[in-house]
Amino acid sequence: MAPLKPTWTQPSHPSIQTVIHGQNSSQEYTSKSVSKISLPPFALYAKMAFPPCTPASEATYATVQCGRDAHLNLNSDLVYINHSCEPSVIFETSTLSILAGPKGLKEGEELTFFYPSTEWEMAQGFDCLCGTGSCKGWIGGAKDMGWEGLKGMYLNGHIRELLEERDEERKGKMNGKTKAEEDSVVKMLGVSVEQAKKAFEAVEQALEAYKRNTSGKVSGIGSVRENGIGSRALIDEALLVVR
Ligand SMILES: [Zn+2]
Repeated sequence: MAPLKPTWTQPSHPSIQTVIHGQNSSQEYTSKSVSKISLPPFALYAKMAFPPCTPASEATYATVQCGRDAHLNLNSDLVYINHSCEPSVIFETSTLSILAGPKGLKEGEELTFFYPSTEWEMAQGFDCLCGTGSCKGWIGGAKDMGWEGLKGMYLNGHIRELLEERDEERKGKMNGKTKAEEDSVVKMLGVSVEQAKKAFEAVEQALEAYKRNTSGKVSGIGSVRENGIGSRALIDEALLVVR
């Protein structure tokens, strides 16, 4: 990625944040942020205030998602906070706050947050190299991550809502399929029952016809055959109805 051209006066948060710009071994532009302060767990680190924040119409590498359809441009050095699977801070978007993580924050510690905790969709996922014990590996927007990849992580309200909807939708699709399958089984069995009914009626009719043809004749089947109407023939004829 090309270096982000700041539109703001740097440093934007000189009392709490040091931004380190550099290049990695592949000569790619990199940047990271380090905390200048120590904080207890969940204490307020910084506010995402307006200004400098401005609403953004869509997600970019310089925005944070703060609602189902709401994004904001940070317009400050806070944009240089990288992703980690064991983040040191939390972007709590409902109160536009950046909080110390569950372990608190130490002076000199890198500032990181868990990208899918705010981002539903990400233009491009990436293989995380955070190197932490609980690294999730591939990181995309929450939409594209399974529950396994999100387990144990702080997630903002809009992400939780969207995940619930995603799961409901998936469940609905699955139920829909089962329902269609059920319908087709019911239909198939219904046809079989109808066929069985017809076959039963045909056999009954054949039996009646056989009885009528043999009544009063002492020679039984032999004489029926002589009349050219055998019981098998009658049954076969009756069964034609159902074939
Ligand atoms: Zn990771």
